[in-house]
Amino acid sequence: MHDVIIVGGGPAGLSAALVLGRCRRSVLLVDAGRPRNAVTERMYGYLGHDGRPPGELRALARTELEQYPTVECRDGEVTDARREEDGFAVVLADGRTERARRLILATGLATALPDVEGFSEYWGRGVHHCPYCDGFENRDGPLVVYGKGEGGKGLALELTAWSRDLTLCTDGRAEALSDGDRDRLARQRIRLDERPVARLEGAEGRPARLRFADGEALPCRALFFAPAACAPSSLIERLGCTLTPKGTVPTREYEQSNVPGLYVAGDASRRVQFAIVAAAEGAMAAFAINTELLQEDTR
Ligand SMILES: Cc1cc2nc3c(=O)[nH]c(=O)nc-3n(C[C@H](O)[C@H](O)[C@H](O)COP(=O)(O)OP(=O)(O)OC[C@H]3O[C@@H](n4cnc5c(N)ncnc54)[C@H](O)[C@@H]3O)c2cc1C
Repeated sequence: MHDVIIVGGGPAGLSAALVLGRCRRSVLLVDAGRPRNAVTERMYGYLGHDGRPPGELRALARTELEQYPTVECRDGEVTDARREEDGFAVVLADGRTERARRLILATGLATALPDVEGFSEYWGRGVHHCPYCDGFENRDGPLVVYGKGEGGKGLALELTAWSRDLTLCTDGRAEALSDGDRDRLARQRIRLDERPVARLEGAEGRPARLRFADGEALPCRALFFAPAACAPSSLIERLGCTLTPKGTVPTREYEQSNVPGLYVAGDASRRVQFAIVAAAEGAMAAFAINTELLQEDTR
């Protein structure tokens, strides 16, 4: 019986493991090694690591964890999890079952890419979803926002902080945009293009233009899209967590879920989806769990 099992070895899970290891808690961290930002070359906005390749941060954290003898990091996949009387049981892909008094799901989030030719080719290298992560590097460039509804409009307005050369492409008539929305975009000098999109074309590993179905093209240094709601990890659903319409868990204070003893940290919970926030959430969950276990054991 471990004190804590952590599913996921991104910033959230690794940070939780570090805090718990320093509290001398027995921790099993299981990671399938498919982080959300795997496609991206550099991670920005992480204090002290701005611009570092994200894989390097994970590797550094894994090395740091080696000095904590009660922490085991295991590469593998958790395929099932259930609540038991005194904690949780998780089943690994190799068939082993492990048990713990508390469970942290730090499983991240999958990003659903719009189904347009070229998007997956340049995903993370000119096709982005988050201006906070990738706006600065593309500042003042000709930027395209791809989005059919509210999300596209909101993202286009948000991006005015990074560039004033913006086109919102709705890939067909934008039924969701009201006259007021159109006015608001026009007042910010955001061009609106409702022509159907054929593909994103590029050169030297970067996008260069968005090609419309009528054959014309729009220059584009980077393309931003508003991601659709994501399917959460099946573990989150199986354990009975409440979900937001976006597929994340509306955690309470210290990343507690509605399931007693279950914490959800990082992108899988509802707050700001930055790596540094994920790490902070992991640390908060670890703090709360250590406090709970101390109270239980010293009652
Ligand atoms: C293209 C892109 C660029 C980004 N750029 C930035 C940036 O510049 N700056 C920034 O702050 N943020 C950036 N982000 C967001 C950042 O990646 C996330 O906020 C951060 O990775 C969240 O950390 P996490 O620990 O919650 O999840 P992740 O880092 O996604 O880690 C989750 C881990 O859990 C594992 N896992 C999932 N299910 C299981 C299972 N059943 N069993 C075992 N393991 C499992 C996964 O394999 C993965 O390794 C970017 C995101 C994307 C998609």
